[in-house]
Amino acid sequence: MTELNLLMVGAGLSGAVIGRMMAEAGHKVTILDERDHVAGNCHTERDAETGVLVHIYGPHIFHTDDAEVWEYVNRFETFLPYNHRVKTTSQGQVFSLPINLHTINQYYGKTMRPDEARAHIAEIADTSIETPQTFEEQALRFVGPDLYEAFLKGYTMKQWGVSPTDLPASILKRLPVRFNYDDHYFFHQFKGMPQDGYTAMVERILDHPGIDLRLGQRFSREMAERFDHVFYSGPLDGYFDYALGRLGYRTLDFEKFTEIGDYQGCAVMNYGDPDVPYTRITEHKHFAPWEDHEGTVCYREYSRACGADDIPYYPIRLMGEMEMLGRYVEHANQEGGVTFVGRLGTYRYLDMDVTIREALDTGRAFLKHAADGTQMPAFSKPPL
Ligand SMILES: Cc1cc2nc3c(=O)[nH]c(=O)nc-3n(C[C@H](O)[C@H](O)[C@H](O)COP(=O)(O)OP(=O)(O)OC[C@H]3O[C@@H](n4cnc5c(N)ncnc54)[C@H](O)[C@@H]3O)c2cc1C
Repeated sequence: MTELNLLMVGAGLSGAVIGRMMAEAGHKVTILDERDHVAGNCHTERDAETGVLVHIYGPHIFHTDDAEVWEYVNRFETFLPYNHRVKTTSQGQVFSLPINLHTINQYYGKTMRPDEARAHIAEIADTSIETPQTFEEQALRFVGPDLYEAFLKGYTMKQWGVSPTDLPASILKRLPVRFNYDDHYFFHQFKGMPQDGYTAMVERILDHPGIDLRLGQRFSREMAERFDHVFYSGPLDGYFDYALGRLGYRTLDFEKFTEIGDYQGCAVMNYGDPDVPYTRITEHKHFAPWEDHEGTVCYREYSRACGADDIPYYPIRLMGEMEMLGRYVEHANQEGGVTFVGRLGTYRYLDMDVTIREALDTGRAFLKHAADGTQMPAFSKPPL
């Protein structure tokens, strides 16, 4: 095997997992990240004042049905049991999410059994909408106007900055209601929280003699010439210096505050009312129930349009963005020597387990191309 000189742009999960696979295959790997830490948006850090492990870029819960991915993360970190549950404060009361039988009974002040609740919702749902096109139509069709107003409308407007009448129906699941008391947020077979945090896990993934990690360094396209191949997990439009315009993202602002004791009794409390400017409050100590801290760290989370100097969080992927994305994909396909990976490189929302799955598949595809002497394509998972 010829030793290749490879560059990973980004030390998030995408860059780390591909980089590790390449180093284990005997290649020379350089990993660059413009930030001063690894783990990308999953980065966790201990708060100096309270000792609480904080999810710096917003709450991250690991959940998957992918046995290989679960085995992979457990190779580098101990995952402890954690069941995610979310509450919402709406119209002066606290309710259980996702909308379930408890939410419905509390909202209507009733004690309905599953079939009664199903019949009640069927009665108030707008069944004249046969094929919902927008988020609002989807909600009215499946939950009716009351639950839509209380739990979905205000939150969605704050999160996306547009009216639910302008969002596609696909954003809301087909049946966004549970007619039982199951309030687990995720149904996956494997779920948990990394005992020492995601950053410790990524540091261990990167701990290999074949990996040269350089933090605080920004990638520029001239660097690519010095390498046999580049795996790029930065923003796709950023790679081309935004020549065709900026792909739309939402960004988040976190207002941090500390308290003594337990501030809200749960990890995540949503705020659905439109007159509350933030979407949710995250109390980080609840992500590590095995730890004991006197103080507590909370983030009030605000969502807004992403400007040029902001961190891109959620890709918007409405019609205009998709057209621009198509043009960037054409450019990328002509580039050669670069593979675009991860949530920013492919302009998609990806959960961590999907990111790892795609990174493993991309790494394997590259090694096969290298062995066959064929060209690795620009995308192993096309963004469109
Ligand atoms: C608010 C929020 C909550 C989330 N919650 C969950 C959750 O609960 N569960 C879950 O499974 N997933 C969650 N995710 C998804 C998770 O964050 C992603 O799956 C994961 O971060 C993707 O990893 P990545 O390596 O592709 O990208 P990133 O983590 O974004 O890493 C990319 C890295 O590239 C670096 N970079 C970019 N451009 C350059 C450049 N030009 N030069 C050098 N470095 C560069 C960046 O600094 C960054 O470190 C959440 C995402 C968000 C936004």
